[in-house]
Amino acid sequence: MKPTTPLVKNQDLILTIDSLSSDGSGVARVEGFAVFVPGALPKEQVSAHIIKIASNYAVAKLTDVLLPSAARVTSDCPVFPACGGCVIRHMSYPAQLIWKRQTVLDALTRLGGLSDITVSDTIGMDEPSRYRNKGSFPFGSDGRHTSIGFFAPRSHRLVPIDDCQIQNVRVMEIVQRVSEWANTFRIAPYDELSHTGVLRHVVTRVTTGGETMTVLVTTGPLPHRTELLEMLADVDSVYHNVNNAQTNVIFGREFLLIAGKPELTEEMVDLRFLVSPQSFLQVNPIQAQALYQSALDLLAVTPHDLVFDVYCGIGTISLLLAKQASRVIGIENIEEAVADARKNALLNDITNVDFRCGEAETVLPALLCEGLRPDAIVIDPPRKGCDPKVIDAILSSTARRVAYVSCNPSTMARDLRLLTDGGFRVVHVQPVDMFPHTAHIECTAYLVRSDG
Ligand code: SAH
Repeated sequence: MKPTTPLVKNQDLILTIDSLSSDGSGVARVEGFAVFVPGALPKEQVSAHIIKIASNYAVAKLTDVLLPSAARVTSDCPVFPACGGCVIRHMSYPAQLIWKRQTVLDALTRLGGLSDITVSDTIGMDEPSRYRNKGSFPFGSDGRHTSIGFFAPRSHRLVPIDDCQIQNVRVMEIVQRVSEWANTFRIAPYDELSHTGVLRHVVTRVTTGGETMTVLVTTGPLPHRTELLEMLADVDSVYHNVNNAQTNVIFGREFLLIAGKPELTEEMVDLRFLVSPQSFLQVNPIQAQALYQSALDLLAVTPHDLVFDVYCGIGTISLLLAKQASRVIGIENIEEAVADARKNALLNDITNVDFRCGEAETVLPALLCEGLRPDAIVIDPPRKGCDPKVIDAILSSTARRVAYVSCNPSTMARDLRLLTDGGFRVVHVQPVDMFPHTAHIECTAYLVRSDG
């Protein structure tokens, strides 16, 4: 039976918050009906104004915190929460880490129906700010000035920003210079509704060694190019990208190098990785190392092992594994990423790794059909988790150890359930805080065959 709502729109009420939702909103219950209150924290008593009623939940705007939680802190960011990037900046960092661990545990027990699972404390950052090494900023206008910013949550309204507390200072400083250039020469930002204007996005990244790359995305030819390049004289690599499509996708097809070198080099755990404008690299280099290291430590690869790295991207985990294993095979469905992975293997003189391009659900069973007998498998799927054919292939393989690297506890819980139903046992789960102040949760789970 469809639940009937005990609430009406525009109602003001006092709520006690039970929990945080997966997107970081406070959740209260009124006669069993869920009310989401962004900005509220568990155990708080708040006053709120109902702004939306859906069939089985409501959304309320926080109007006052009557009894604050001990975890509540004052945000130090002028655009929080308007920009939508950080959603739990009003929660102390230790409390964020506890919440992330609990969310993983809840997903595994409630969604996955798993019991007796050990979930370690979340590995947090010593300094949870300025951790992002890459930012993509849309341009917009307040009618007079062109500025950069972020789109407000679930909208395409620009929230202009001068700084971003989770972004590397070099990145911010470069994008602010681009914004200044746009203002000085009165270059119009792109307007989605009328499909007019020139400037769409500026994307900037910095490597751990301090090299920088900027890509300017416009709808057509780049105006005031000389002046732009003068302003960006210290940037190591500058690209122009044209995207004239009516789409949310940031980049168009072609990247034109307009100054500096085509690629940067990122260093991680004694390995070097080439970075081109489209390369996918984790944006928090410190925590990426912690995440990868936790997977490697748990897997304890030996020099006799054949290891598969499924969903391998540009081969980061594959190359780390290759230093310890007899042989590694990486599987990835984006051709450019596979090309990068092969280049990275060459760059690091690693010869015991192969990369196969294709869908994991086809390539993994095909490798097993070829007679390959993996000892261990790493899986690092996208948010939707693994295709069931990937799980079936793992179950039918000779692998006795599996490391599952996840960016979504819900789909991880579903997949771990399938693996445990098929004879694996979850030995250990390690959350790693890759994105402080946001609701994103990454973790590694380690599984072994039950009889092993
Ligand atoms: N392990 C890598 C990348 C993980 S992100 C790293 O840590 O850097 C997940 C990767 O899976 C992406 O590179 C994505 O392109 C790839 N992918 C998504 N669906 C896939 C599929 N069905 N088959 C193979 N690869 C896939």
